[in-house]
Amino acid sequence: MLPEFEYHRPASLEEAVRLLSELGPDARAIAGGTDLVVKMRAGLVSPRHVVDLSRLQEIRFIRDEGDRIRIGAATTLWEIENSEEVARGVPVLREAVELMASWHVKTTATIGGNLCNASPAADTAPPLMVHGATLVIVGPGGRREVPVENFFTGPGQTVLGVGEVLVEVVVPKLQPGQGAAFEKLTVREGALSIASAAALVEVSGGRVVDARVALGAVAPTPVRASRVEGALRGQPATREAVKSASREAKADVRPITDVRGSREYREEMSVTLVRRALEMALKMAGGVSA
Ligand SMILES: Cc1cc2nc3c(=O)[nH]c(=O)nc-3n(C[C@H](O)[C@H](O)[C@H](O)COP(=O)(O)OP(=O)(O)OC[C@H]3O[C@@H](n4cnc5c(N)ncnc54)[C@H](O)[C@@H]3O)c2cc1C
Repeated sequence: MLPEFEYHRPASLEEAVRLLSELGPDARAIAGGTDLVVKMRAGLVSPRHVVDLSRLQEIRFIRDEGDRIRIGAATTLWEIENSEEVARGVPVLREAVELMASWHVKTTATIGGNLCNASPAADTAPPLMVHGATLVIVGPGGRREVPVENFFTGPGQTVLGVGEVLVEVVVPKLQPGQGAAFEKLTVREGALSIASAAALVEVSGGRVVDARVALGAVAPTPVRASRVEGALRGQPATREAVKSASREAKADVRPITDVRGSREYREEMSVTLVRRALEMALKMAGGVSA
């Protein structure tokens, strides 16, 4: 049973922000509802007002702008998975979305909902982190931009204040000489990650000139693997260098034990997932053969 609430369907982003600001902490935004309704049914949250963002066409789009892709927060995962712009410019995001949920969940679930729900296992977060994506937020105080890796503050917690809405995700495109890949460990196809890893590398003259790695479900928020990155930058683009740098992943994560896996298992698998993602990314960038 769902707890009782008042349903609001604003016709514009401006009206949504005004409603959420006026109704205050008793109100929650809803997009696809695939996280919020589950939590409401379980009695984990019981907002008195629900403000529906799903009909706001102004935050539902995918735009190719040369060196970056802009994705509206209310864009569904299904639209992202089937977007040629995303497949060309941010293939690692498409890869992650393809491995999420089932197609019918993805036709309503949104990228904004995945980020704002702030699960440590949110699968869109690691790919966006390695791409250096920026989140655009609109609220009663105006518009602001936050790097995706500064957005999460804890499990289920973000920097969003009362009345603020995530409106778009701005993602720099993959450049020539770069490669990126995503790896996910799960109990079955379409289920939540036990652990996940995204990697983006840049290779020049046989060396790794840049390496960015992010992990999901192994810390209170999605995290960058700065030790792995530091160990790989400047190294020859070889499988041996990747193997050695990946071992640092254990020091980058702070997993917990839960129903999906133990702390020790997640630590071990972080190393494996990072190695696999880096090998695939290097192969794509023209480095080692994987
Ligand atoms: C069967 C099933 C399988 C799933 N598998 C996966 C999986 O493999 N990987 C994964 O990461 N997730 C998975 N999920 C979780 C979920 O589907 C995703 O997180 C989804 O992207 C959430 O989007 P939504 O639009 O439904 O969010 P909603 O439920 O509508 O909202 C989630 C939260 O975000 C807030 N919110 C939504 N949009 C905005 C916005 N624009 N601005 C401010 N706040 C906002 C809401 O207030 C709420 O707190 C699964 C869920 C189900 C039911």
